[in-house]
Parts: sequence; structure tokens; C-alpha cells
Amino acid sequence: MKIEEDIKLDYSDVLIRPKRSTLSSRNEVKLERNIEFPISKQKWYGIPIIAANMDTIGTYDVYKVLSAYKIITAFNKFYDLNDYKSMEKEGLDPNYFMISTGITQKDYDKLIIICDAINVKFICIDVANGYMEQLVDFCRRVRDKFPDKIIVAGNVVTREITEQLILRGRVDIVKVGIGPGSACTTRLKTGVGMPQLSAISECADAAHGTNGFIIGDGGITCPGDVSKGYGAGADFIMIGGQFSGHDENPGDIIEENGTKYKLFYGMSSDTAMKKHYGSVASYRSSEGKTVRIKYKGPLSETVMDILGGIRSTCTYINANQIKHIAKCCTFVRVNR
Ligand code: 5GP
Repeated sequence: MKIEEDIKLDYSDVLIRPKRSTLSSRNEVKLERNIEFPISKQKWYGIPIIAANMDTIGTYDVYKVLSAYKIITAFNKFYDLNDYKSMEKEGLDPNYFMISTGITQKDYDKLIIICDAINVKFICIDVANGYMEQLVDFCRRVRDKFPDKIIVAGNVVTREITEQLILRGRVDIVKVGIGPGSACTTRLKTGVGMPQLSAISECADAAHGTNGFIIGDGGITCPGDVSKGYGAGADFIMIGGQFSGHDENPGDIIEENGTKYKLFYGMSSDTAMKKHYGSVASYRSSEGKTVRIKYKGPLSETVMDILGGIRSTCTYINANQIKHIAKCCTFVRVNR
């Protein structure tokens, strides 16, 4: 039996130690980042937060709110060319959306059709298990076809595969997280996973040494977790559950005993499988769940809450921009 003895940490295992700060107001903090991607040679400017490519999150209504803050929405992979054409007519800024794709030939063909028809800057190649050999080959194929698009690929949680995706797959950004998602049951169903803060730290170190970047994907339960993610080295943070339950998320409001809810579900949940494929295939179990989220009102209020939290973290540790959080951040380990 092999065991890695060093302790791996989750967001809830740490806090950020406050430091002497010359910043006197949250207004002095700049949340936007200017990023130059050496592999695709693209530039991007915005707040490095991404709405997850899930049915109830990665939608055009969510994009309309988030793009006004220069936050990215990763569209769910079920949008087709017609959807994109009508969105483009209404307004689509390529800086603030990603096209998501799986790794089959059908996915590839659809991706080409969409990228030929509309102006796409980010492509997100997304599989639940980023350790499948085909992923790196698929990324390389997409890179050869699109030398100057910003390519994201995942999900993984360790150093070697992060390096492979960047060096061999030629992706710009690696998406990190297996098991931390709020609607995810992978850790329960399979026993597989990695505490998210340590996964971010390890993969960021690997990516930053090879001209790449990372997204910390999943496990955000509050604004403080976003700051902790940046502190551990994440360049971007992807959010699902915290962006659910609003007016802009699809689905009806359910009222029970005077409390209002909206439904949010994992992309491998029974709900998603039935919606998109008719049923859960007999050889697999569902690794996602469906949860009722208390209705939260307009999405912009949650966004402001998260951005306010990050600004405040920055003033506690003397970081005048998100980019500086990692170098200004010292974590203290805490008991849960
Ligand atoms: P959250 O912000 O809700 O904690 O995490 C969002 C992330 O959970 C998504 O970006 C995606 O990586 C992951 N996820 C979404 N649906 C599922 C699912 O059904 N199963 C698993 N294992 N992960 C999911």
C-alpha cells in the first residue's frame, strides 16, 4: 500500500493571516488583471472569475450580467450554432465567454462549425476525468487547428498531467479540481479526489513553470474561498453553486412552506443525464446530485458580495491587485 504522507488541504483547512497594510480603502484595490498568454500569444483583460459550464450556470442570461463586470461565462456544451448565432446578434464579447466541448469526433466537428461561424477567443475542453490519454491528444489537435485561440483543458489535480497538457497539449490554461464541486459526488461514489487548495497550489506551480495558467474549479462556498484560491496560486476561479439560485438562472422558483428555491444540478447528475441523454447509462453511476438552492434574487448582488470580499482580503494583506494576492498571502492552518 502506498500513501502520500504530506497533508493536503481544502479551503476550510486554512485562513489568511492579516498583515500590515498601506491600503486604507477597498477602492484602492484593482480587481481586473491583464494577462498575456505566451502559447496562444493572446491578451485578456478582466476580473479572473469564470461561471461554470453547467446547464443552470453557463447560460446567456448569466453572461449578460457577468460580462458587464468583465467576468467570463463558460457556456454549457449543449448550445449549438443557432444558439450562438442568436446570442451574437444580441451581443457577445469574445473576451467574456468560452465555448465548451467534450473530446469526441462529434464534439470536434461541432467546435469547428461554431468557431468558423462566430468570433471565439476561449475554447474550454472539458472532461470529468482529465487523466484520459485522449485528452492531451485532443488538445493538441485543437491547438494545431487554432494556433491563436486561448485553450483551457481539464479537469486534473496533479503536477505531471498539468505539465503534459501545457507542454504536449499546448493549452494555455489547465482547469484544476476533481471532487470539490458543490453538486459533485465523485469523492463519495469513487473515493477519488484531492483537497482543492493543495491541488491548486501543486498545479499552479507546475503551470507557472511552463508558461501556463490555471483555473481553480469547484468548492467555492463563500467569497473568502475565492481569495484563498488566488492565495494558493490560481489565476482564475470557476464558480458553479454560488452563482445558482438567482433570477437569471434557468428553472422555475419552487415555493415550499413559504421559502423559495431554485434547482441546481451537477452535470453528471440523474437530472442532467435524463435531460440530455434520456437516462444514466447502465455501466456508470451518477456522480452528481440535484440540490435545492434558496432563491437569492438578482445575480448582481452575489457578484458584488464576492467582489467586495476579494477587495477586503486585499486590504488585509496589502495586495493592491488580485495578481498580488498569492505573493502577499500567508495561510494559517486551522481546525475545521
Ligand atoms: P461548485 O462551484 O458548484 O462547487 O463547483 C462547480 C464545478 O463542479 C464545475 O465547474 C465542475 O467542474 C464540477 N461539476 C459540475 N457538475 C458536476 C457533476 O455532476 N459531477 C462532478 N463530479 N463534478 C461536477
